[in-house]
Amino acid sequence: MLTVDVESDWGSGRTRGIEEALPRLLDLLDQYEARATFFVVGDFATPFRKRVRPESRHEVGSHGLTHTPLTRLDESDVAFELSRSRSILEDLGFDVRGFRAPFLRSPRMLPRLLANTGYSYDSSMGSVFPSLRNLTRRRDPVVERGIKRIPPSTLFDRITPFSLTYLRLLHPLGLGLRSKHAKLFYFHLHELLDEPRGWRGLPGPLQRLHARNVGERAWNILERLLKTFRGRTMRCRDFVEAHG
Ligand SMILES: [Zn+2]
Repeated sequence: MLTVDVESDWGSGRTRGIEEALPRLLDLLDQYEARATFFVVGDFATPFRKRVRPESRHEVGSHGLTHTPLTRLDESDVAFELSRSRSILEDLGFDVRGFRAPFLRSPRMLPRLLANTGYSYDSSMGSVFPSLRNLTRRRDPVVERGIKRIPPSTLFDRITPFSLTYLRLLHPLGLGLRSKHAKLFYFHLHELLDEPRGWRGLPGPLQRLHARNVGERAWNILERLLKTFRGRTMRCRDFVEAHG
């Protein structure tokens, strides 16, 4: 599964990722016959919709309304993030079934609230950092309150996320370090921009490290990945449906 989180650039409120990286990404996906799932923040649904039509072969899910970590919100605000982001995307013509929590920070109540707001699957398990939370033997979705939750994928150490962030940080080793069981890959549009910022909330040195190998180097890593999985990538919805 190839998944893309669509939000503002490095938490800045700017959207060069959507304006500049997204069109080039769509061409690249076509070139390698790849289908992807885009988890879109409701606040940025309109600029996204200008570039991706509901009839496209890609899938669109929700990445929250405002990209606020859900663990910081009370239950009614979490429910609002889930329902409002979904209705914005559906009003734009997208058929939304899946959700991914910002920063993968999911409160305990998430599956119940997702079920209440009409979602069918969740891609929020694991951690964005190397963590024991990524350690799992599960390959199939875990069903909780009727919501199918997709297990995280890692590099061969079984704790480092299989994401473009770590492929960039560990380049040129990264791609060779993936676990042979890894199925779920994720990245952000801003990683593809030639603008070495890193996540704004991080302290200075970490922010620079976080921005290692962005831009053209990141495009190259992504293209190598697409070449490796040519014609075999799938959307989250296809994976979830294939597992009952
Ligand atoms: Zn995000």
